[in-house]
Amino acid sequence: MIQETRRLADEYEISEILGRGGFSVVRKGISRKSSSSSDKTDVAIKTLKRPFAPSNPPPLPPHARRSDQNSFAAAAFQTRKQVSISNVLLTNEILVMRKIVENVSPHPNVIDLYDVYEDENGVHLVLELCSGGELFDRIVKQERYSEVGAAAVVRQIAQGLAALHRSNIVHRDLKPENCLFLDNTVDSPLKIMDFGLSSVEEFTDPVVGLFGSIDYVSPEALSQGQVTSKSDMWALGVILYILLSGYPPFIAQSNRQKQQMIMAGEFSFYEKTWKGISLSAKQLISSLLKVDPEKRPSAQELLDHPWVVGLSAREDQMDAEIVSRLQSFNARRKLRAAAIASVWTSSIFLRTKKLKSLLGSYDLKPDEIKNLSSHFKKICVKGDNATLSEFEE
Ligand code: ATP
Repeated sequence: MIQETRRLADEYEISEILGRGGFSVVRKGISRKSSSSSDKTDVAIKTLKRPFAPSNPPPLPPHARRSDQNSFAAAAFQTRKQVSISNVLLTNEILVMRKIVENVSPHPNVIDLYDVYEDENGVHLVLELCSGGELFDRIVKQERYSEVGAAAVVRQIAQGLAALHRSNIVHRDLKPENCLFLDNTVDSPLKIMDFGLSSVEEFTDPVVGLFGSIDYVSPEALSQGQVTSKSDMWALGVILYILLSGYPPFIAQSNRQKQQMIMAGEFSFYEKTWKGISLSAKQLISSLLKVDPEKRPSAQELLDHPWVVGLSAREDQMDAEIVSRLQSFNARRKLRAAAIASVWTSSIFLRTKKLKSLLGSYDLKPDEIKNLSSHFKKICVKGDNATLSEFEE
């Protein structure tokens, strides 16, 4: 067995919790080593659940013995037929982050990974700290919000995606909550993060498709489970639609209906909401939301689009109603995320009844509750639940 000799706690002082995800908890870390205040000392430490019991590690393939940092990922990769869903996600994130470090970093719009530690508590990814908050949180707080501001957001996401796609990395779970501002300055870069569902050529598993949020999922992912870089462009189209209207392009009574609308590319620009938005922006959205992935622009092509460049984007303040709708959309989304995170992290909610009552208290539609319940039931059957409570505080 390969022993990790360095200890996370020796190198970083671990402080407050920054957020929680399905299989992780993210805390702030302060480097113990830096001497000058100008050093980049603050980091985000994402701790992922350890999939194998420390006393019973799986046999490591010879190529896994390259370094301490590689041991977990390689082992899980090698035995992926037996690993459970959380293992797949964890393995995936590490492999993708390694590829980002090798091929993309440093990039102003892609989160950087500084280091990886492994101990009895799990695998710790030491990441660039993003203290500027989530994309929509900042937008709804802005005093002035115009198409030019929205175009700046799209440009940054497109720059990040172009770099990832050049290295054959597909994000697969692009959504506003996976875009964080680096800091609180006005010109702060926007960073794409959370590569838990991403894919690299060497490692893809259809099971990860289970977890994408339906709102941003492309027609090809729904119909054939096929995901390419153009699927990220679809998600960007959905984000842009929400940025300019405050609501998603596909709204339906049930998830099944929503799926059908997505697969048919059935959306519209309601005159009342969209009358103040430039034709150029609407044309751009229509090109990104083409059902045929081939017809969507690539991230690189997007960077030359006149609206994205800022030439045809309107400078005047957006209608107050749009911002207020964006606010409610964001609040509702946050409640849903909180419900999901607490379900994942608490084993007492495994029984469907409890689960339903928890989700019900977050004012989700009956259809959404049913859908989430069945997802969680499937996952629990696979035996992932036993150690999820480890993350409970
Ligand atoms: P999910 O279940 O949504 O896929 P996850 O397990 O992959 O989540 P993340 O989304 O990566 O976890 O992180 C959970 C939360 O932690 C984020 O919503 C964010 O608030 C916070 N967070 C993650 N990474 C960072 C970072 N680098 N800097 C600051 N906060 C972060």
